[in-house]
Amino acid sequence: ASTPVKYKRVVLKLSGEVLRGKGSETIDAAILERMCEQVKEIHDLGVQVCVVIGGGNIFRGLQGAKRGVDRTTGDYMGMLATVINGLAIMDCLEKMGVKTRVQSAIPMNQIAEPFIMRRAMRHLEKGRVVIFVAGTGNPYFSTDTTAALRASELHADIIMKATKVDGIYDKDPKKHADAVKYEELTFIDALKQRLNVMDSTAFSLCLDNNVPILVFNLDDEHAIRKAVAGDKIGTLVHG
Ligand code: UDP
Repeated sequence: ASTPVKYKRVVLKLSGEVLRGKGSETIDAAILERMCEQVKEIHDLGVQVCVVIGGGNIFRGLQGAKRGVDRTTGDYMGMLATVINGLAIMDCLEKMGVKTRVQSAIPMNQIAEPFIMRRAMRHLEKGRVVIFVAGTGNPYFSTDTTAALRASELHADIIMKATKVDGIYDKDPKKHADAVKYEELTFIDALKQRLNVMDSTAFSLCLDNNVPILVFNLDDEHAIRKAVAGDKIGTLVHG
């Protein structure tokens, strides 16, 4: 029997950090493979999948700024980091037999297609996983904002934000033993309680365009499959 699918077109936001293992490798091969297996799983269910990949395992503009790198330059370094991660995901998925296309917000024609919304749509309809790299192409933004933007443009049903925590809590679960996890929240509740779901630019794009966000832990077994099936996993933020 096939798993029923609740979300037909999803933007999967993977932070660069999830690619880093416990060791010193910036891209842990075993983690990459497990992650791609999960993407393949929902792709095989017929879900249209866009991946927005971060770069935090390699470089973040803000982290560079602390060391004296100009913020804009640092942000471009961060955007290039996402390209490296995106190519790793492309390579891994293709070896598993999943057809992919990489689209870059900064043109680099030898490496990736340029981002063209209507072409991305076509790839999705043909069953290709589209991997968006180089963020929005602009400094001072994040890959969370990229996910919110692409989800809005492509009319995705949801942003699934895979992280290392299993959802949104009323306070930091690392500091407070009595922290309580929310199963779901409205955008307004999240704002009122000043919960950090995403950075404020990303969050307000989702709010304005009514794109639900699911925050969940990628380490749970079949986490992505459960997420697209609408199972209780992580925290759902909605309108
Ligand atoms: N970045 C940017 N504009 C964008 C997306 C990303 O300047 O539209 C830069 C920014 O410096 C950011 C870095 O790329 O810190 C890596 O992205 P992000 O921090 O979102 O990655 P993640 O935390 O998801 O790994």
